[in-house]
Amino acid sequence: MPSDRAKLKPITSARQIRLGDADAAPPHSIPRGKELRDAAEEQVARIKKLQQVLYADGRFALLVVLQGRDASGKDGTVKKVFRGVNPMGCQVTSFKVPTELERQYDYLWRVHRRVPPKRMIGIFNRSHYEDVIVPQVQRLLPGRVLSHRFEEINDFERLLTQNSVVVLKFFLHVSRDEQKKRLTERLQDRKKNWKFRPSDLEDRALWGDYTKAFREVIAKCSTTWARWHIVPADNEDARNLLVARKIADTLDALSLRYPPLDPKLRGVKVR
Ligand code: AMP
Ligand code: MG
Repeated sequence: MPSDRAKLKPITSARQIRLGDADAAPPHSIPRGKELRDAAEEQVARIKKLQQVLYADGRFALLVVLQGRDASGKDGTVKKVFRGVNPMGCQVTSFKVPTELERQYDYLWRVHRRVPPKRMIGIFNRSHYEDVIVPQVQRLLPGRVLSHRFEEINDFERLLTQNSVVVLKFFLHVSRDEQKKRLTERLQDRKKNWKFRPSDLEDRALWGDYTKAFREVIAKCSTTWARWHIVPADNEDARNLLVARKIADTLDALSLRYPPLDPKLRGVKVR
C-alpha cells in the first residue's frame, strides 16, 4: 500500500503553498527506478479501467486542469498519464495566447466551450488560470479586475461541479535548475528545438513574480469544490505517479458502475 506521504494532498491552507526549489523534489517516501515506473504504470492502468466505466456510467465528466511554468511537464503528463485512455472518451485543449476572436468575448468563453460533457475526460493544458497569472505578472489589469476574476473563476468552477463535472487542478512545480536543464535541452536537442520559444527566457527572468502569482492563485482558488494540488515535478516518473494516482482515486470515489440492462429489454432475443 502506498504511504500517505506518497499521495498528493489537496491545498486547504496557504501555509502548504511553498513553491521553493526544494519542494519540486519527489517525496522521500516514493519508490525509485523501476519500482517507481511500475507504480506509475499501475495507476495508468487503473485510469484506463475506470475511464471505461466513466463513459458507460454517463453521470459525470472529469476535468483535469494542468498549470505550471514552461517546461514543467504539462505536455509529458498528458502523454504519459492518459496513455491508457480511449481517445473517444477524452478531449485535450491546449490554451494559447487568446486569438483576436477570443478576445472579443469574456475570458471564460473559450474555456467553457471546452468543458467536457458527461462521460468524457477533459484535459486543460493551461487554462483560465492564465487569465489571472499573465495579467498579474505583466501588470496588464488593475487589482480590482483581478479580484473579480478570482471570484468569477471560483463561481465558474462551482457551476461546473454542481453540474456533474468533477474538477481536479494540478500545479506542476519545477525548480529553477530543472527548468534550466529542460530549456537547455530544447536548444541543444534537434528533436526538441521546435519547443523552444524565446519568451520562455523572458518568463524565466520573472521567476519570482510568477512564484508570487502562482501562490496567490492557488491560495485564492483552492476551494472545497475544486482543490488545487501542487505536484513536485522535477522527476517525471514521480510526477506521473502522483498525478495518475490522484486521478484514479478520484474516479474510484465516484462509485462508477455499468448501467444495468433496461428492464424493458429483459427477455429480448437477438434473432
Ligand atoms: P505553450 O503552452 O508553450 O504552447 O505556450 C502557450 C503560451 O500562451 C504561454 O506563454 C501562455 O502563457 C500563453 N497563454 C495561454 N493563455 C493565455 C491567456 N489567457 N492570456 C495570455 N497568455 C496566455
Ligand atoms: Mg511562456
